[in-house]
Amino acid sequence: MAKKYVYSFGGGKADGNESMKNLLGGKGANLAEMAGNKDLKLPVPPGFTITTEVCTYYYKNKKKYPASLKKELENALGRIEKLMGKDFGDRDNPLLVSVRSGARRSMPGMMETVLNVGLTEKTIPGLIKASGNERFVYDAYRRLIMMYSDVVMEKAAGIEPKEDMGIRKQLERIMDEVKRQKGYKADTDLNAQDLKNLCARFKVKIAEVLGKEFPDEPMQQLWGGIGAVFSSWNGKRAISYRRIENIPDVWGTAVTVQTMVFGNMGNDSATGVAFTRNPGNGENEFYGEYLINAQGEDVVAGIRTPAPINAYSTSEHNKDLVTLEKTMPKIYKELYSFQNRLEKHYRDMQDIEFTIEKGRLFMLQCRVGKRNGPAAVRMAMDMIKEKLIKKEEAVMRVTPAQVDELLHPIIDPKAELAHKPLAKGLPAGPGGATGQIVFSAHEAVAWAKEAKQVILVREETNPEDVEGMRAAQAILTARGGMTSHAALVARGWGKCCVVGCSSLHVDNDKKELHIDGKVLKEGDWITLNGTKGNVYEGRLTMMDATEENTLLNDFLKICGTIKRLGIRTNADTPEDAAKARFFGAEGIGLFRTEHMFYGKGSDEALFLLRKMIVSKTEDERKKALEELFPYVKKDLKGTLEAMDGFPVVIRLLDPPLHEFVPREEAKLQQLAKDLNISMKELADRAEALHESNPMMGHRGVRLGVTYPEVSAMQIRAVFEAAAELIKEGKKPHPEIMIPVVCDVKELQDQHVIFKQAYEEVLKKYGLKSITHMFGTMIEIPRASLVADQLATVAQFFSFGTNDMTQMGFGFSRDDIGGFLPEYIKKGILPEDPFQSIDQAGIGELIKIGIERGRKTRKDLEVGICGEHGGEPKSVEFCHKVGMDYVSCSPFRVPIAKLAAAQAVLKEQAASKKKK
Ligand code: PEP
Ligand code: MG
Repeated sequence: MAKKYVYSFGGGKADGNESMKNLLGGKGANLAEMAGNKDLKLPVPPGFTITTEVCTYYYKNKKKYPASLKKELENALGRIEKLMGKDFGDRDNPLLVSVRSGARRSMPGMMETVLNVGLTEKTIPGLIKASGNERFVYDAYRRLIMMYSDVVMEKAAGIEPKEDMGIRKQLERIMDEVKRQKGYKADTDLNAQDLKNLCARFKVKIAEVLGKEFPDEPMQQLWGGIGAVFSSWNGKRAISYRRIENIPDVWGTAVTVQTMVFGNMGNDSATGVAFTRNPGNGENEFYGEYLINAQGEDVVAGIRTPAPINAYSTSEHNKDLVTLEKTMPKIYKELYSFQNRLEKHYRDMQDIEFTIEKGRLFMLQCRVGKRNGPAAVRMAMDMIKEKLIKKEEAVMRVTPAQVDELLHPIIDPKAELAHKPLAKGLPAGPGGATGQIVFSAHEAVAWAKEAKQVILVREETNPEDVEGMRAAQAILTARGGMTSHAALVARGWGKCCVVGCSSLHVDNDKKELHIDGKVLKEGDWITLNGTKGNVYEGRLTMMDATEENTLLNDFLKICGTIKRLGIRTNADTPEDAAKARFFGAEGIGLFRTEHMFYGKGSDEALFLLRKMIVSKTEDERKKALEELFPYVKKDLKGTLEAMDGFPVVIRLLDPPLHEFVPREEAKLQQLAKDLNISMKELADRAEALHESNPMMGHRGVRLGVTYPEVSAMQIRAVFEAAAELIKEGKKPHPEIMIPVVCDVKELQDQHVIFKQAYEEVLKKYGLKSITHMFGTMIEIPRASLVADQLATVAQFFSFGTNDMTQMGFGFSRDDIGGFLPEYIKKGILPEDPFQSIDQAGIGELIKIGIERGRKTRKDLEVGICGEHGGEPKSVEFCHKVGMDYVSCSPFRVPIAKLAAAQAVLKEQAASKKKK
């Protein structure tokens, strides 16, 4: 049988269903489900979906369609005609259709749509007769002409007009000119004759600019629309969006052709967008916006301010507008019951588009609604309580990036109280952000590349702005509602965003922003509160929003019951340790000893460390170490205490020593004086420490091998701190870790020092034992290969994937920026290997290390402490290769916890599938 390319829906039936997203796209699959599922059978305007396979065929075959498509399409069109009792292209009672895109995953606003297809000079009189509304018909016609010329005749034809010279812009200017001449304010002031004249002028302009006539033939319009949607899959902004969202190019888009229903047939008509729960905060309340006498594009484009559908959806911004619940109570009730059924059916929050045509409600679209982090966590937790979903499903419903959003900064409430907002808009994306104003997406990208923090300010955003929106800290727009493009995109990304700030006037030419007589220029600082919708002048202080989020804590507790991996943190101060414990860390996976010399109040200790470093004789060094000892011990004790009862991996000094040699004259003089040597002598000693390749130089275990007394002092400090804590009734659990090891003999050398220090401390404190372990980092590729030997001495391994990536690739971890962007752009590397573990290469080294290590020592404890330990994909990898724990910075602990729980659930789902 020939392959089926067209799937019909409507009239209580559908060929497809929700499970066919890959073939029908999200939109097509959900329309089929809404129309055909026995629990739903909602009033969906009938239509059909052309599959994504046609899109792939189209691109593989020089933009040609499969031979059987034409016949299938004609049959499906005939079916709609029958259901609607109207004919496509008919003079008396014409059927009009929309042509829309729909990929597997929603790509809001990134592809094209053509509405009112089938309206021509010939069918206009019939539609006027049927609708009894001449103005409406000519309004629909001018919309078709504008959209069609833009989408099909210009964009799909590959024409790239100069800035502001696109056909749509040119037609808009004609329309604005007519409005100005006639003294009209809104588009709705244009009467039937105005619109009729406009359509005629538009056609002349199109022929003049594009050199082609607007096609006044229904079938030609339909095929043109279909081709344009397929072409838009490879449009610039769709490609950009796919890169950012990791959507494969080969998926293709489906095209849905659907009967037009009109929200602009008068005051008994309307169109709207709603969510079954509030996507901004997750509250279980029906939430949405609508516009009387308008078409869907008006809501999404944010041209008019939409009204709230009910009292709950009312905000500061739209409080004077009448709700749908009040103007059309019966329809509202119907809509309310539909949304209830939809949410129960899909067991998730739905994003719904609806149209009311002459008092009749139609459901145009439903899909799983995008939500921000706070809303995702809240909905997941609520839905467990409502018994709508199980806890495992709840865990899969929240992405690590959404958890990350909850950990993002907000404006310090005190600073906010002290400042009066400069303007107010709609709170479209949560959290706070501060940055320098830029007025174009292009500039946002360029400034962000220079590590500047920017806020993208636009009159309204359009999908072309997507990369700039991504690069900006936050987005501010003058126009648009909560469902406008800027709001949808920002919410999806969890970015701070304020839209519809109507007191804003943006002057792109002068690069100025006018707010109530105040002028701000490019580069000026502003601060946004995306949760309230406030805009402030200047740079306000930010702070963490994490302290009291009990809902997140409850959610993470559930993750904790599912995950297998332990989650530790990389922390070097008692404060960081405490914060990480608050986030649920189960120990420290990396305490970098050298960090104690960087922090607050470390001047004295740093001075002594420097003294030790520039010491020449063993005596000098030992004396300096004795002086340093109490500082090191005190610091370690503080952290061990903060992590009481949990393991703390303490890594011995790692960095090349010359990093600590002072450069300031005054500091050098003080050092020379204290050591009783000349400045010249000091300079010579410092010079002797200089290395060409310090990261591959005298660092890590090599320091301990050449200066055993340095290791001895540190190990003694660890055990004395632990011994004192034991005496105080605590349960310290130190694990001593040797860095940059490449051979077992290095470990054996250090183990002798370790053993001796341990015995001495036991004796000094009269203790029988101190719980502890001795282990090594695996961060040199050779270490992985000889892991079986290392495990004869090491009781634990911790993979240092920062250095492992550096040495495995031969890429310097400090300055990869020179070539990495080009590597990613050209697809040589899929992403930055310092962020997400390169599973093919470095991952193999890790697997070999674990396998060989455990061959020697079955109960070898294995973890990771490189930056990858807090990156979700890498966490999943660590789970898969059987590590015991991951360790990451305190703020990434919650993310790692969720990723670890999801790794278990994904594994279970995969094994179920296999069975
Ligand atoms: C590593 O190399 O992965 C590591 C954790 O150590 P550092 O970043 O301190 O070199
Ligand atoms: Mg390292």
